[in-house]
Amino acid sequence: MTAIIRIENLSKQYGSGTKALSGVSLDIHEGEIIALLGPNGAGKTTLISIICGLVVPTGGTVRVGGHDIATQWRAARKLIGLVPQEIALEPFETVINAVRFTRGLYGEGPDDAYIERVLRSLALWDKRDAMTRELSGGMKRRVLIAKALSHRPKVLFLDEPTAGVDVALRREMWEVVDQLRRDGVTIILTTHYLEEAEEMADRIGVINHGELLLVRPTADLMGEFGKKTLTIELM
Ligand code: ATP
Repeated sequence: MTAIIRIENLSKQYGSGTKALSGVSLDIHEGEIIALLGPNGAGKTTLISIICGLVVPTGGTVRVGGHDIATQWRAARKLIGLVPQEIALEPFETVINAVRFTRGLYGEGPDDAYIERVLRSLALWDKRDAMTRELSGGMKRRVLIAKALSHRPKVLFLDEPTAGVDVALRREMWEVVDQLRRDGVTIILTTHYLEEAEEMADRIGVINHGELLLVRPTADLMGEFGKKTLTIELM
């Protein structure tokens, strides 16, 4: 299997002295869905932010598609789409223009045929002319995903895609991820919920206190530890 992302011995200490990550190594394979599971403050967002080039690590290396993020950041960044935890949209833009805008930020020329495909796959095509502020919470999250996919990244990061949403919306998001899986997108998502990781991911990485404690295929992990033990360990 080809590793699209190769993380080696990554560490991060914030200026405040907080050690957010230590010795994290991980290969992420093309086409897989991997869930990073861990409680508040475990280091999940820090890890994602480093891979996306938003936070500079204290030590270690990250390669995306063979490009070192420290020295070949532009090339690496083109391969990545990030859906942040907070919903931040241009409120007075239409859905389609919001997506076109993000594509432009990546320096990509217009490609409305591709954007139509993305909006259709996220069931947003009928809402393309709606103002983003008029949409429901679930639709807004889909627009964030459409924006993150606008420049055709190979890898999509979803940082707690279901934080603070109700059960129905959570299921809706699982279906969206399933659709993206069928489209062959590599996905790294973070979550606090074991059931969510189990539902969506091919592999689960358990992260706590800045350390990647283990990474296993989902079925193996559930068989090895069982739901109850894993949940208690993470508390
Ligand atoms: P959550 O699930 O709550 O989003 P997380 O697993 O994503 O948590 P991080 O946000 O990566 O965890 O935080 C890891 C640790 O680093 C925490 O102790 C946090 O307080 C600290 N931290 C995160 N960002 C910063 C920052 N910019 N400056 C200082 N400390 C930070």
